[in-house]
Amino acid sequence: MRRILVVGASLAGVSAAEELRAQGYEGELVLVGAEPHLPYTRPPLSKDALLEGIDQTALQLRDEHWYAERGIELRLGEKAVGLDTTHRQLRLADEATLDYDGLVLTTGLAHRPLPPALRLRHAHQLRTLDEAERLSAALAGARHLVVVGAGFVGLETAATARLLGLDVTVLDVAAQPMSKAFGPEIGIWFARRHELAGVRLLLSASIIRADDEPDGTTTIALDSGERLRADCCLVGTGSMPTTDWLRGSGIDLGDGVLCDPTLATNVPDVVAAGDIARWDNEQFGESMRVEHWTNAVEQGVHAAGRLLGSRDPFTSVPFFWTDQFDAKLRCVGRPSIADDVDILRDEDARLVAAFSRGGRIRGAVCVNAPREMAQLRRAIAERTRVSDLTRDCTPATPTAAAAATA
Ligand SMILES: Cc1cc2nc3c(=O)[nH]c(=O)nc-3n(C[C@H](O)[C@H](O)[C@H](O)COP(=O)(O)OP(=O)(O)OC[C@H]3O[C@@H](n4cnc5c(N)ncnc54)[C@H](O)[C@@H]3O)c2cc1C
Repeated sequence: MRRILVVGASLAGVSAAEELRAQGYEGELVLVGAEPHLPYTRPPLSKDALLEGIDQTALQLRDEHWYAERGIELRLGEKAVGLDTTHRQLRLADEATLDYDGLVLTTGLAHRPLPPALRLRHAHQLRTLDEAERLSAALAGARHLVVVGAGFVGLETAATARLLGLDVTVLDVAAQPMSKAFGPEIGIWFARRHELAGVRLLLSASIIRADDEPDGTTTIALDSGERLRADCCLVGTGSMPTTDWLRGSGIDLGDGVLCDPTLATNVPDVVAAGDIARWDNEQFGESMRVEHWTNAVEQGVHAAGRLLGSRDPFTSVPFFWTDQFDAKLRCVGRPSIADDVDILRDEDARLVAAFSRGGRIRGAVCVNAPREMAQLRRAIAERTRVSDLTRDCTPATPTAAAAATA
């Protein structure tokens, strides 16, 4: 291939570019990104970086020299707006076109459009470095933060703002935080942790009306009749795959870019990776899209290999983390597809839960419990029966796979 374009200059895109060079690809390699910054890592934007002050250089995935040394051309601040797969041409916002022989799609996620009641001038959203800088400046002068949406980013930001000394209220229509990912048991534990730290959680709460006030504050009226006044407001109501620019290109789209088990799309020499990619994960026998850091790295690497000729399927046991106060949650597997949950440990500072389907363990959540996490990760890969787990999370009877490696 003479020229490969990687569209989306972030975690999955940088991993793909790195792997292309590592596997000996010597042609032109161009990384196209809509944001003007060098690719950076996002998890600290709601955690340490928001707490300690945002240092753009510290957040960079790689410095400028790293790209130059590998002959990776950066086209930053350039948004892709269209793709012609017949003539193999990418169209940019300024009407320039780039030819390609191979293409890696890594355009990730964008905020879901806000419901009309929340289209506020004074509200913040958080996904990018620029948004984090604006939020950080607003928090510095604020006393009361209201977070709309008790998902991961909302709760992490709530915890950070509380550590910064703000009064914090979190609202959600759901009965428990993070309920879409885990169901109620984990949410109840985290609700308790937040309340102990002084965060006010208003759950099963609907917003009737929200207004920007002339003084820069926001008033939020709830169905309970309560009215909140916030001098900083974060709306975290979810994201969706950035596929709008691919419409009409002939690439199959659904909830993301639809890929086969190898991360190839339906169009030759076009692969996808990271938050945008929906693929058939043979490890779980289901189509999935994963919106987490480790997956973006691993898929970037795999998609690069696929473009260079590998036909291996990308199989994985998804993993992610969230840090809120001193609670370090690590999740492995697919809790959301489970039909049963066993709480193996529930203490003030630690929680261990195994999620099973048809009696076999399919996911696990561990808070401040790294040893149990490692054991449960193995149990998921080996499809251990939940009834075979001992209290310290090791299989009671070794599985065939474990016995073979013993
Ligand atoms: C605040 C925050 C905290 C997080 N914390 C955690 C955590 O604790 N643990 C965890 O596992 N994961 C976390 N994540 C998720 C993790 O950061 C993502 O899974 C990861 O960034 C996905 O990488 P990606 O490259 O697939 O997509 P993204 O990082 O979304 O990057 C996509 C890139 O494509 C660019 N782009 C979009 N459209 C175009 C276009 N048309 N043309 C050119 N470029 C385009 C975007 O500007 C963006 O830079 C967090 C995410 C956020 C936002």
